[in-house]
Amino acid sequence: MAAGEAQADCLFCKIVAGDVPATVVRETKDFVAFRDINPQAPTHILVIPRAHYPNAGELGAAEPELAGTLLAEAAAVAAGEGIDETGYRVVFNTGAGAGQTVFHVHAHVMGGRGLTWPPG
Ligand code: C5P
Repeated sequence: MAAGEAQADCLFCKIVAGDVPATVVRETKDFVAFRDINPQAPTHILVIPRAHYPNAGELGAAEPELAGTLLAEAAAVAAGEGIDETGYRVVFNTGAGAGQTVFHVHAHVMGGRGLTWPPG
């Protein structure tokens, strides 16, 4: 398998392909952003690269420019949702022990309520 290649058994690759429905809020050549189906905040959007990398670390190692642009995409999504002024959180759960359940890298962009620290 070539790095970044779509995986047949990956749910988010299926969303990228349009084979699984999602409420898409923003799309670019390299990224898709859609509403989380189980939102943990009034605004909860996932930003994913179209290319398949299992987690943020592997994306950053293989494609540092794309990883950097993912942060800019997260900021653009936050601005589009109007949560950039009040504050928002960008989270990359990395590994099952940290709560990662879908192994296609995704930035959670969350806001619209007060967010406490530390997270659970
Ligand atoms: O960080 P983690 O891997 O747990 O995040 C996966 C996220 O994908 C969850 O917040 C889950 O609600 C979301 N999801 C989704 N649409 C699906 C399946 C999962 O938004 N079809």
